[in-house]
Amino acid sequence: MPTVLNIPNAELDAVVEFDPVIIGKMSQSGPRYTSYPTADRFTAEFGYGNFLEALAALRMRGGRRPLSLYVHVPFCDTLCYYCACNKIITKDRSKAATYLSYLKQEIAMQARLFAGMNQIEQLHFGGGTPTYLSEKQMDELMTHLRQHFEFASDEDGEYSIEIDPRTVTRERVFSLRAQGFNRISLGVQDFDDAVQKAVNRIQPEAETVAIMQAARDAGFRSISIDLIYGLPKQNLETMTETLRKVIAASPDRIALYHYAHMPHLFKPQRRILDADMPDSSTKLAMLGLCIARLTAAGYVYIGMDHFAKPTDELAIAQRQGRLHRNFQGYSTRAESDLIACGVSAISSVGAVYSQNEKTLDAYYEKLDEGMLPIARGIKLDTDDVLRRIIIQMLMCNFELSISSIEQAHPVQFRSYFSTELEQLRTLAQDGLLIIEDDWLTVTPKGRLLIRNICMVFDRHLAQARALAAAAPDCVQPLRYSQTV
Ligand code: SF4
Repeated sequence: MPTVLNIPNAELDAVVEFDPVIIGKMSQSGPRYTSYPTADRFTAEFGYGNFLEALAALRMRGGRRPLSLYVHVPFCDTLCYYCACNKIITKDRSKAATYLSYLKQEIAMQARLFAGMNQIEQLHFGGGTPTYLSEKQMDELMTHLRQHFEFASDEDGEYSIEIDPRTVTRERVFSLRAQGFNRISLGVQDFDDAVQKAVNRIQPEAETVAIMQAARDAGFRSISIDLIYGLPKQNLETMTETLRKVIAASPDRIALYHYAHMPHLFKPQRRILDADMPDSSTKLAMLGLCIARLTAAGYVYIGMDHFAKPTDELAIAQRQGRLHRNFQGYSTRAESDLIACGVSAISSVGAVYSQNEKTLDAYYEKLDEGMLPIARGIKLDTDDVLRRIIIQMLMCNFELSISSIEQAHPVQFRSYFSTELEQLRTLAQDGLLIIEDDWLTVTPKGRLLIRNICMVFDRHLAQARALAAAAPDCVQPLRYSQTV
């Protein structure tokens, strides 16, 4: 029987329904829609010149709107076996020093390009492990950023950093707050000893809880933790205990990711023993358990993998229809262009996405030539822009006003998307959404399968699948994780 999970003291819109039968039937591999078109559609034909064109177009439109800035630090001390990120495992700290000198060059170049429209309202440090940098290196980097960009006040800006609790002390947490960060995100994944051992990430609970307390004492406005379900050695018992500890620690936000075991694609995952992996029914049951426990504890289901306290800015933004989705997940800053600095980082400026070189050598080489280190990207056409808005609205608000799309874009929704509406009707029959004259509304049951619903509007995915079906031997398989 499906379980409807009502959240105490939260509005009806914070209800999510876990239905294992429909999830089992519908789950498939699909994009996470941190961008549309998704990054696998970027091509090397897109280069520095295209980025400059996009910027010029932004200036022509009088583009002084707040910016988001992402800074990527790719280094980690040790390898977590489940990791599928673009990271560099090294204990050789001199590599970080070289990287920083190039990163600062890129930041200075971007700042020159955005001169006059360089007000930052959102900053995010991700990785890898941003706290791989020493306190002094971080200090210098933040000073460099402030010299080149204008930052909104601490009160108005959202300045976040991902930390690995194993790499920081209480004092370091206070330094990060003093350096300007006001939101912090901790990688936890699981508190169980056997699970931590199986993924090579030994992180005692007491250490994590102490760092969370330090973040509170230092005045961080939002504390987020990452969990993963589907890891080796996990089962319902270990997950129950981890959830108990997580809820007791009371983070403001929780990101609950599904572990996609793809050892053929990600080498580190080959160190995970197949025999230790939970089967798919256990994984599904763990997901149900996580949703039940977190929502019963008062967390609001934001969407995809995210939960937040009703008082957290993310939940408030969702209630007010201001939620946005970008490469860092959900965000409260809807209209920002995103400048991303660092190896493999992805920028979103106007109607283009551009991704930096993925290897350090290639990244350094382009900067040595005086160019932004762009490796690939995509320029959106009007159809992409339209579909991006639709996917964004569905992912963030779980509803779409057809008339609002028609007012903003020169299309008759029902004829333009007649094929998509046909596909949506099938999903509606399964109870995932309601189609009315003016509204598409995702039901509580459909919320967990929001990626499936968005996939209907993904023209590029449809084309790629058609191509793969026509010539299976000539086309690279699509590399997406399971939608649930
Ligand atoms: S999970 Fe995070 S800390 Fe672990 S190897 Fe990957 S990027 Fe590094």
